[in-house]
Amino acid sequence: MRPKFVAGNWKMYTSLASAKGLAANVAHAFGEDKRVMVAVCPPFPWLTAVAEVLKGTSVLLGGQNCYPEREGAFTGEVSPAMLKDAGCQYVIIGHSERRHGLNEGDEFLNRKAKVALAAGLKVIFCVGELLAEREASKTEAVLDTQLAAGLAGLTTDQMSKVVIAYEPVWAIGTGKVATPDQAQAAHAHIRGKIRGLFGEFTADHVQIQYGGSVKPDNAAGLMSLPDVDGALVGGASLKADQFLAIVNAALG
Ligand code: PEP
Repeated sequence: MRPKFVAGNWKMYTSLASAKGLAANVAHAFGEDKRVMVAVCPPFPWLTAVAEVLKGTSVLLGGQNCYPEREGAFTGEVSPAMLKDAGCQYVIIGHSERRHGLNEGDEFLNRKAKVALAAGLKVIFCVGELLAEREASKTEAVLDTQLAAGLAGLTTDQMSKVVIAYEPVWAIGTGKVATPDQAQAAHAHIRGKIRGLFGEFTADHVQIQYGGSVKPDNAAGLMSLPDVDGALVGGASLKADQFLAIVNAALG
């Protein structure tokens, strides 16, 4: 049985004070329910402060990105080891705002995944198609390429530390959510591809989150689908009550 996993991607929002307050509200209300995993991914500068707020709670901490080197002369970048040191257990890799907004390609994202895993982080690896790709019936081909190239060379042991987030790009921050049929079909396809790449055990155990305009009123429907194991939440993760309602929806 795969535990549901709800992660909040705070993107480039919050102040130091509001980030600490949001983390405290989430941690306080979430308590210790073991049936669902919860993570928050604040902007880099707030990570250590939020880690302090989350200390002793079961809310996990993630970075939103990392650079694929252990250390070096990479001005402005943040290494996976630094995220780990700051208290992160997870890092988001391949978010569409980086794939498409910042032109990060599959090979670069694959390097990030490898360096992050080597540093002891778990990875939330995002995949998803553009609207034009969906309309051209290329969704499955796009997902196949992003998974095969992005996860190339990973061992099954490393894959046990990878979560996939299916995020159709046309649904992110747009208010347009995938229908249950679209989400289930894409998730089942992703699980099938993982089965082909890494075998039955990995496919059965890998958590696949849905992301794209998840809100309290659509979360339960999405997360009750057989291959949807949680959510990666953007906008609604910035309001503790909305994020917690989505966490509650994961409990079924
Ligand atoms: C995201 O940032 O990954 C996301 C899915 O955003 P939103 O929930 O706002 O669509």
